[in-house]
This record gives sequence, C-alpha cells and structure tokens, in this order.
Amino acid sequence: IVEVSGLRKAFGTLEVLKGIDMSVRRGEVVCIIGPSGSGKSTLLRCVNLLEEPNAGTVVVNGFEMTDPDVDIDRARRGIGMVFQAFNLFGHLSVLENLTVAQRKVLKRDRDEAERIAMRNLEKVGLAEKAGSMPAQLSGGQQQRAAIARALAMDPAVMLFDEPTSALDPELVGDVLTVMRQLAEEGMTMLVVTHEMQFAREVADKVLFMDGGVVVEEGQAAQVIGEPRHERTRSFLARVL
Ligand code: ATP
Ligand code: MG
Repeated sequence: IVEVSGLRKAFGTLEVLKGIDMSVRRGEVVCIIGPSGSGKSTLLRCVNLLEEPNAGTVVVNGFEMTDPDVDIDRARRGIGMVFQAFNLFGHLSVLENLTVAQRKVLKRDRDEAERIAMRNLEKVGLAEKAGSMPAQLSGGQQQRAAIARALAMDPAVMLFDEPTSALDPELVGDVLTVMRQLAEEGMTMLVVTHEMQFAREVADKVLFMDGGVVVEEGQAAQVIGEPRHERTRSFLARVL
C-alpha cells in the first residue's frame, strides 16, 4: 500500500535521503529505527509529500504522490499522521478536534462526525474527555486524542513519527498500548520509533536507517535480535 523507490532528498547540499527503497503492505506494521539525523522523519514526510523528493517515486494507496498531476488533497485523505508533538487545536474541545476535519474534508454531518469521533475516543480510552480542552489533558492523553483524530478520517495507512518521545516515561505505555491494539486490528502502520521493545513485539518488518540509506531490513526479531550489519549492532548497543 506504500511503495517507495529510488527516493532522494537533499536540503541544499545536504543529502538526507540517498536512494530509499521500501514498502508497506496492507495490514503490515513497519518500524523504522536509526540514529538522530539519519533521515527517518524526512522519509515519513516524503511519503505524504510534506517534503518534495528530488528523485524517485512514492505511491500510497494507489496514488502516485510524486506525480505532479496528483490530487494531493485526495491522496492525503488516505494517510493518517501522528507526530512527536501533539498537534491538537488548542482552542477546540477534544470532540471538536475530532469532528472538524471529518465535516470539512469528508463532508460528514455533525451527528455522524460526532458518532465516529466518540467511537474513536472510546477506542483510545478517552470517551470521558470529549468535552475537555487539550490543555486539560496529559501529554499521553493528548497524543491518544491525536491518534483518535487521525483514525476518525478512516485512513488506509497511519504514519507515526516518534509518537512517544516527547512524553514522560510513565505516559508512554498508554500510547503504545493503543498502537499495539491498532496493529492487532489490522491497521497498516509505518512507525518511526525509539521503542525497541515495541518494534520487536509489534512490527512485521524493521528497517534500520543510517546516513540516508536503509542499512538493513528484515523481520523484527532478526534486525533487533541478530543484526547483520556492524552499524546496526553499534546503534542497538547504544539504545538497548
Ligand atoms: P531524529 O531521530 O533526531 O528525529 P531523523 O532521522 O528524523 O532524526 P531527519 O529529521 O529526517 O532525521 O533529518 C535528517 C537530516 O536532514 C538532518 O541533518 C537535518 O538537520 C536535516 N534536515 C531535516 N529537515 C530539514 C530542513 N527542512 N531543512 C534543512 N535541513 C533539514
Ligand atoms: Mg525525526
């Protein structure tokens, strides 16, 4: 459902992605690990064209994102994205955060949007916070609300960029539990994470990136448990 080939991206003279090939099949969970600055976020941002690649192709859910004639708004509708920092609208209640795009973009009426919002808030354990303002929520609750908001748009694939790395340690678990549950329900997920335990247990496939290339990829147990490349080994030795 996600197919990236020959992807290159430079910022000025800095080559950040040097020819990335990767894919995510429907229902699969793929985790990307790697050191800071290796290009993980840039890759994720190229997938939904928040960054424009210099070369290569990206196809998501049947849309060729890199085709200049693509209807990018329609193409992005199938892609849910959750970032490191929670991106809730601070002046809207949690419920309104979940309904505004459904109504504007998907043209759902208020009743339907609220019904779908509540279903997704229940899913992430936040139904009782529907009327709260984002500032009244803990970081973990805000992040779960952000996940529910993305889910309310019925995405074909969810992209996560280090969704737990801005959280206090005791709040990380709740967010990972929600992500784990999503994976079990068969959601297609591409996840940049530093949570090796999560990657090991949940991912169907793990990619290790370093210096703008995919150094190693394979089953989670193999890449994290028995890495083949020295660079993967030394990275894991630092983070595990
Ligand atoms: P981290 O684990 O710290 O989040 P990352 O693997 O996500 O790192 P990226 O954010 O993709 O790394 O950044 C890769 C490189 O590209 C870095 O050297 C960064 O400084 C550079 N970079 C990223 N975005 C831009 C930009 N908009 N303009 C210039 N340089 C950028
Ligand atoms: Mg990053």
